[in-house]
Amino acid sequence: MRKTRIIATLGPATDSPERLAALLDAGVNIFRLNMTHAKHEWVRRVVADIRAIAKRKQIIPGILLDNQGPSIRTGDVPAPIQLSVGERFFFTVRGATPPDGAKGTSVNYDDLARDVRSGDTLVVDNGEMKMRILSTSSSLVECEILTEGSLGSRRHINLPGVRVSIPALTEKDRADVALALELKLDYVALSFVRDPEDIATLKACFQGHSHTPQVVAKIEHQFAVDHFDAIAHAADAIMVARGDLGVECPYEELPIIQRRIVKSCIHMGKPVIVATQMLESMITNPLPTRAEITDVANAVFEQADAIMLSGETTVGRHPVTCIEVMDRIARRIERSGGANYHEEAELTQPRQKLVKSATLLADQLHARAIIAFTRSGQMARFAASLRPRHSAIFAICSDEILAGQLTMLRGVTPIIIPACSDDPEGSIEGAIQRLVNRGFVKKGDTVVILVPHATTHDRQVDSLKMHVV
Ligand code: PEP
Repeated sequence: MRKTRIIATLGPATDSPERLAALLDAGVNIFRLNMTHAKHEWVRRVVADIRAIAKRKQIIPGILLDNQGPSIRTGDVPAPIQLSVGERFFFTVRGATPPDGAKGTSVNYDDLARDVRSGDTLVVDNGEMKMRILSTSSSLVECEILTEGSLGSRRHINLPGVRVSIPALTEKDRADVALALELKLDYVALSFVRDPEDIATLKACFQGHSHTPQVVAKIEHQFAVDHFDAIAHAADAIMVARGDLGVECPYEELPIIQRRIVKSCIHMGKPVIVATQMLESMITNPLPTRAEITDVANAVFEQADAIMLSGETTVGRHPVTCIEVMDRIARRIERSGGANYHEEAELTQPRQKLVKSATLLADQLHARAIIAFTRSGQMARFAASLRPRHSAIFAICSDEILAGQLTMLRGVTPIIIPACSDDPEGSIEGAIQRLVNRGFVKKGDTVVILVPHATTHDRQVDSLKMHVV
């Protein structure tokens, strides 16, 4: 079984029940809904479709709603504006217009002129076009074009090194989070996180709701890199969002930042996603480039929990093939070994140490599986973070919501079985039988079992067992 989880962003190229089923068959573990483009009506429909198909196939995919966040975008232009090096261009706010005869467009952020200074760099459309800011007034930002290009409507603007004062969650984000809560989605991702307070702002939106999604902090600019440790402590998972990160930071730093983040996440036991442009050329081509194969392989070697596709599965011509390509590379690289950053992780809790013993035992025995009975998910999270070498991890839980929130963890397959705390041996037998029926383990396989027992004194004692099926 493949350990690295695959996340596919949904869009026009994958917008049908047939395509969703094909993506699941090819090995998608989590579907991502990008709220920069998605409408609520579409989210409701696609979530219902995913859940119906998954039920039929008896699999549990996670669903991640990715907020647009405080993203600055250009306004609508009647036709793309051609710009050449050295030309002047004006960004306008609060309904202002460019000076007579000058080229320009509006932006969606009223305080742009206040946050930037002359000399700052402004990047449009993920690095397609670079501009230098020459001057600002209350409603205009005058720029000089540094790289030629064509500027269309609603293009994304990056301001490397500039701390903009937009709040972490816009009104649109708040409405999108409310939808995630209503639909009980598993994960909510926060874009352009700057510090742990941004995570706290998002988590405050969950108060008073019965459902609490896992929060994924997207690391996509230098401020987040600088505050990484505090952000990782506040968040439930991390995404190395290399699209914006590659614009906001010098690109030669990107591999170093990725490795540092993956390593730190594994040390902290936080799930980590490596995202963006993993198979970019496959938006049009049926095969990946050699560089893309190596990039996917590198993330798998680093033992990231998940790898993610964006344009490849939203607008690409070969969305299902992309999953097959990732699946094939991941399986091969996992067999060849990994960076094993988990070996340096400091284990602070007795429970972590017990799980460590389980993974060592499973490694020694070449166990087919670690079966972790888990009520809060902690046992499964510890097992995943300790990166067992050969064994798949089956997280046995009784709760659908918890199962969905375990789908990002490396090597973990959640299995829902109703709780039966007064018969632990019967529960173990039942779980093994279920895994045999599903073809996950077979007669003669060795499995390692982690099981919490309630004692007569209202305490819980965890035990570790070895078992031959
Ligand atoms: C990224 O920038 O890499 C990313 C995943 O974010 P988005 O797709 O929202 O721009």
